Amino acid sequence: MRIDIISVVPELLDSFFAHSILKRAKEKKLLDVFVHPLRKWAVNEYGQVDDYQYGGGAGMVMMCEPLASAIESLSQDRKYDEIIFMSPDGQPLTQSLANALSLRENLLIVSGHYKGIDERIREHFITREISIGDYVLSGGELPAAVLTDAIGRLLPGVLNDETSALFDSFQDNLLAPPVYTRPANFRGWTVPDILLSGDPVKIAEWRYESALKKTAEKRPDLLND
Ligand code: SAH
Repeated sequence: MRIDIISVVPELLDSFFAHSILKRAKEKKLLDVFVHPLRKWAVNEYGQVDDYQYGGGAGMVMMCEPLASAIESLSQDRKYDEIIFMSPDGQPLTQSLANALSLRENLLIVSGHYKGIDERIREHFITREISIGDYVLSGGELPAAVLTDAIGRLLPGVLNDETSALFDSFQDNLLAPPVYTRPANFRGWTVPDILLSGDPVKIAEWRYESALKKTAEKRPDLLND
C-alpha cells in the first residue's frame, strides 16, 4: 500500500514516520508513505500557498492553485483510490473506516492549515473527508498521522503478531479486555487465576466476558449499535 500526504509543514510528519511502527512497515515494504511539501507548488517565489478569505474575516485560506497542481501532478504517477481531506466537519474516523481504507492500494491525504482549504478543491478533487474528533486542531498533519497509523497497523505483517489487531478495541464493537504481565502478585494485587490456568478455552471465555462487561460499563453505546 502507498499513502501520499500533502502538507505545508512536512517536518511535523517526518519525525513521526521515522520512528513509529510505520517505520517497520516501510522497512518490510508493506507500506510506503511520502510527504509532499505543498510549497513545491507555490504560486510565487515567496512560497505563497494561502491568501485572505473572500468576504473578510480573520484567518488565511489555502489557495486552489497550489492544491490543484499538487493533486494533479501526483495523480499523473498513479491512480488514487481515494483523495482524502482531513477536516473537523468530515466523517468521523472509526475502526471500521480504518479497516475499509486498509484494503485500498493508493491513498492521497490532504492536510489543511489556517482556516482550511478553498471549498472548490473539496468539491472538485476530494473524494472523502475525515475528522478525527469533535475538536479543532491547528493543522491536518496530526490527523493525517493518526489516520495513517490506524490504517498502517492493520496491514498484514506490520504488527509482530499478525492477529493482534483483530483483538483490539472496537473490532466487533467491543472494548479490549484487561491485560496483565509479570509478576503475578504485585503488592498483593493478583492477576485473575484463569489467566494463569493455561486453559485456552477458559481464557478466551474470560476475555470475551470481560470485554462485554467493560464495554457495558464504559461504552454502552457500542453495544447498542
Ligand atoms: N476553520 C475550520 C478549522 C480549520 S483547522 C473549521 O472550523 O472547521 C485547520 C486544519 O486542521 C483543517 O483544515 C484540517 O485539515 C485540520 N483539522 C483540524 N481539526 C481537525 C479534526 N478534528 N479532524 C481532522 N482534521 C482537522
